[in-house]
Amino acid sequence: MALTWLKKQVQDLKDQHLYNNILTIESAIGPEIKINGKKLLNFCSNNYLGLANNPEMKKAATLAIKKYGIGPAAVRTIAGTTVLHKELEAELAKFKKAEAVITFQSGFSANIAVIPALVTEGDLIFSDELNHASIIDGCRLSKAEVIRYAHINPKDLEVKLKAADPKVKKLVITDGVFSMDGDIAPLDEIYKVSSKYGAMLMVDDAHGEGVLGESGRGIVDHFNLHGKVDVEVGTMSKAFGVVGGMAAGRTEIIEWLSQRGRPFLFSSAMTIPDVAACIAAVKILSKSGGLVKQLWKNADYLRASLKKAGFNTGTSITPIIPLMLGDSKLAQDFSHELFNEGLFAKAIVYPTVAQGKARIRIMNSAGHTKEQLDKAIKIFTKVGKKLKVI
Ligand SMILES: *Cc1c(COP(=O)(O)O)cnc(C)c1O
Repeated sequence: MALTWLKKQVQDLKDQHLYNNILTIESAIGPEIKINGKKLLNFCSNNYLGLANNPEMKKAATLAIKKYGIGPAAVRTIAGTTVLHKELEAELAKFKKAEAVITFQSGFSANIAVIPALVTEGDLIFSDELNHASIIDGCRLSKAEVIRYAHINPKDLEVKLKAADPKVKKLVITDGVFSMDGDIAPLDEIYKVSSKYGAMLMVDDAHGEGVLGESGRGIVDHFNLHGKVDVEVGTMSKAFGVVGGMAAGRTEIIEWLSQRGRPFLFSSAMTIPDVAACIAAVKILSKSGGLVKQLWKNADYLRASLKKAGFNTGTSITPIIPLMLGDSKLAQDFSHELFNEGLFAKAIVYPTVAQGKARIRIMNSAGHTKEQLDKAIKIFTKVGKKLKVI
């Protein structure tokens, strides 16, 4: 069959400047990376703490491979649970001061596991309108009815909870740090409203893990809501510098997920090197908050400098800093110009953000030096002026 309809769809994306040009990285992930043989300042990776190429973690992964091999060769519930998986879950629970933790292959898998395990047809989900795609997919799989509330707006959430049938089971879901804007959900207020109406509360802290709270313990720690949020989904694919997902929270929920979280039952366990590297990451964070402090220092400096230069950084208050541009062609041109000047930061366009809200998204890292930040500010300013953004 001639797939002309698909060719046309791809061409449409290109015509509308919405086509994702996928670049290939030829070096380790760090403050500098190599693409097409060119060395670039990297402001694009979710490598908040610079752990993606950390020597202690690499050593832990190598030693674990020597002892246990590579793949688990099974799902967790059949033969895929090693002592390392149990150790990681125990260490994470201690670190996050949670009753219990269960790990998944990724944050995406965690959302697909948790949401359908907690609610089903006839139940209600209250979801922030800007929640991550994996939450949206988890909601769809659950078959529960989804009621969207206005972004980070506990008042609108309350109006919607109040209007719902008090007898129906309810789950409130919010991102912790929103990945495209860098703003933070007011989890304390969301908790108050959720508990008032007897709703369960779930937060997806993918961008808060290793970033918010004491030594990066996450958003629940940031708001001191230990024992109050029913389930906190997280990822080890961002600040932890590896790949993996988790759910932390009430023992009853974590136990239930080990029985009915479908990616836990039907997709193979995290690999040995991933698990070992994650254990090492938790140890690094538990020992010192230094990397987290450096990350925030870098981010606050960069954000203030970009604002001073005249850029609109939206509602960012975290290490995620968008440069709001609006038009997707402008955003793609901006990214190309940055690349030519030796800086890697990608344009984010529809459908990752709404139409007309295209932007450059800058990701900070504790690994950036002051010299690298100053060089970046010069490049952003030069391109901003050239494209008449500032
Ligand atoms: C990145 C992200 C995920 C997915 O995490 P992975 O571990 O990369 O699968 C889930 N939720 C949110 C809010 C994210 O930003």
